[in-house]
Amino acid sequence: MESVRRSCCNRIAYQATKRGSPADCDCLYCRNFDAIGDAAYPAAFASFADTMGIDIAKTNEIVELGDFREGRVLYEGWFHVVGSIVEGPVPLDLTSSVGATWHHMTESFQVSLSRRRDLPFDELAAKDLVQLNFLSNVPWVLDEPYPG
Ligand SMILES: [Zn+2]
Repeated sequence: MESVRRSCCNRIAYQATKRGSPADCDCLYCRNFDAIGDAAYPAAFASFADTMGIDIAKTNEIVELGDFREGRVLYEGWFHVVGSIVEGPVPLDLTSSVGATWHHMTESFQVSLSRRRDLPFDELAAKDLVQLNFLSNVPWVLDEPYPG
């Protein structure tokens, strides 16, 4: 497993930012993810994220991947940590998460680290960032049907 050296300003940035998908968006995919809330994340991830100064209610972005099966839907999303990867495998192409090592935390939740910096919050944009990517398979809980 990779390890990350982080700096202390992450929690402050997450408290300060006005952004945070999916609460920012009114589309069905984001509303479903928002309705799931903290249950989209295993407890071990939630406590790790808190240690890193991340507010899991404020993802940088989520993307619904169109993989709808048996009432469940797959999302990709990410958070940023101010710091750098100091150990462990990282993708050769540092702008890509392709080749990143995905770690299964549960059957329905995976994480990877990369040096991508997709849509950082303004409060973090000038810093060195590690991107904490996740894949989360969650139930479709809205009354409206999955739009396909
Ligand atoms: Zn949306």
